[in-house]
Amino acid sequence: MRFPWNTPPEEGQAIEVAEGVLWMRLPLPMKLDHVNVYALDDGDGWTVIDTGMGSKKTRGIWERLLAGPLGGRPVNRVIVTHHHPDHVGNAGWFQSEIGAELVTTRTAWLFARMLTLDVQDSWPEETIAYYRSAGMDPDFLARRLQERPFNFADMVYPMPLGFVRIKQGDTIRMGGRDWDVHMGDGHAPEHATFWSRDGELVISGDQILSSISPNIGVYATEPMADPLAGWLESCERLSALARPGQLVLGGHKLPFTGLPQRMGQLIENHHSALERLLDFLDTPKAAAECFAPLFKRRIGEGEYGLALVEAVAHLNHLYHIGSATRTRREDGAWVYLRRE
Ligand SMILES: [Zn+2]
Repeated sequence: MRFPWNTPPEEGQAIEVAEGVLWMRLPLPMKLDHVNVYALDDGDGWTVIDTGMGSKKTRGIWERLLAGPLGGRPVNRVIVTHHHPDHVGNAGWFQSEIGAELVTTRTAWLFARMLTLDVQDSWPEETIAYYRSAGMDPDFLARRLQERPFNFADMVYPMPLGFVRIKQGDTIRMGGRDWDVHMGDGHAPEHATFWSRDGELVISGDQILSSISPNIGVYATEPMADPLAGWLESCERLSALARPGQLVLGGHKLPFTGLPQRMGQLIENHHSALERLLDFLDTPKAAAECFAPLFKRRIGEGEYGLALVEAVAHLNHLYHIGSATRTRREDGAWVYLRRE
């Protein structure tokens, strides 16, 4: 794999990574402290890909980007790769305040719109039950319950009605190129990726990242989900489109080439994690007890939540493919055991 730029763009600035394609960054208030966004030059204006976490701060940076690197020309379209807040966060602002059209997948739009309307002042019973089922550390759970619950609306600008749907097999013209639209799955359902017909560029959102493995998580929305199956299926399918020379523009970290190798790693990482996990399930274990074999490093407080939902995803997968059984422990946690 090669990384043509080892320094990302400064806040409020852009790097032209291909003709008519600008790479920009917005900050995130998390351990993963940035998200990549892109602008493609359509001649009469711009198509923006992903929008950052919604906040006054990121919208302030957008205003500087629009006036600076984007030259004050109109943003006609904003494309959202998937529904997560760091990508969809300012899409509604682009629609309401900038006059852009929103283009995204139906699932991404429905999830984003549903979750922004679903405001909770106290923790929903279902979420607490889900955490207990996963065996969340009681002290961690107690601390979490003291805080305001996670609310999508806190980090996503209100989304007005109306969007343009893209789906598997579509083609779209942007930045003077034609792009094939292919759907990913696993990190987020119906996650859009864009493959330029000239074979030069791939805009991959979080489906394909260069140096971190996208989080595959199960949430209280669908506790029995098997997103890892969707991840493996879509990565295998997208691998067939990968070429060594394509410049891959992802949602985080650095642009890179060497996609066939990276696709192999993204798939293999999870197969080997599943093998280590299966070895570990010689006695019954809850999701929260499976961090060591899965991640092979200490999980700090700041990563605990993401680690837990990813552990459930791996256990659900083993359960669904029939490699593990599960029973309810007295403390309410599901515990999983390797099927001999
Ligand atoms: Zn992301």
